[in-house]
Amino acid sequence: MTLDTNWVKAWISAAADSIGEHKQELNTLDREIGDGDHGENMDRGLRASVAALEKLPDDATPNAALRSVAMTLISTVGGASGPLYGTAFLKAAEPLGDAATVDGAALVAALAAARDGIVSRGKAEPGDKTMIDAWTPAVDAARAAQESGASAPDILTEAADAAEEGAVATEPLVARKGRASYLGERSAGHRDPGAQSTALLLRAAAGAAE
Ligand code: ADP
Ligand code: MG
Ligand code: MG
Repeated sequence: MTLDTNWVKAWISAAADSIGEHKQELNTLDREIGDGDHGENMDRGLRASVAALEKLPDDATPNAALRSVAMTLISTVGGASGPLYGTAFLKAAEPLGDAATVDGAALVAALAAARDGIVSRGKAEPGDKTMIDAWTPAVDAARAAQESGASAPDILTEAADAAEEGAVATEPLVARKGRASYLGERSAGHRDPGAQSTALLLRAAAGAAE
């Protein structure tokens, strides 16, 4: 489909379903290297976001829809991930301006702005074992796909594939940011929950774009 406000709604609805299905898995990942609430936090935030999007006016732009998700995540997710994902959605909205649809170039700009927003808020670098280790390869893959002429849905599929690989690649890393960093070397051998939820969110974005 064309990436418009209905795509944002379909995306967040699919993301809420996916996070709901994987809630226990995300909690378990977070129990191993954090406090066990990441699935719960994200499930609450995505369900609230679906409800908030239902109340948007019919002529709302994708920008307005993403900002609605951002504000909802900031006010309902809590923890470290709420403000980080909230910032990601807020920053992703900016390059879209007041356009009714999102083309490939705008999509890549939005994904890059989301990643940059998380970095400026959380100060994590690649390799610190955070959601940035899923976002960074996703942005790189999206940009490469766009430059080779891929359609918007294909750009999102490439981004989701790269985010999944990035999430898996956090397993051997030692955490240097967030709660998992308190464990030091003992954080190695576990996948970062935020990187995993990022992969789920981007896979939902790709699915909704088909
Ligand atoms: P909390 O740790 O407060 O319970 P969550 O469990 O919801 O919050 O989220 C934890 C996730 O947040 C981690 O798996 C990691 O991906 C992400 N995270 C934590 N701190 C940072 C940071 N400074 N930069 C980027 N991501 C971070
Ligand atoms: Mg947690
Ligand atoms: Mg917590």
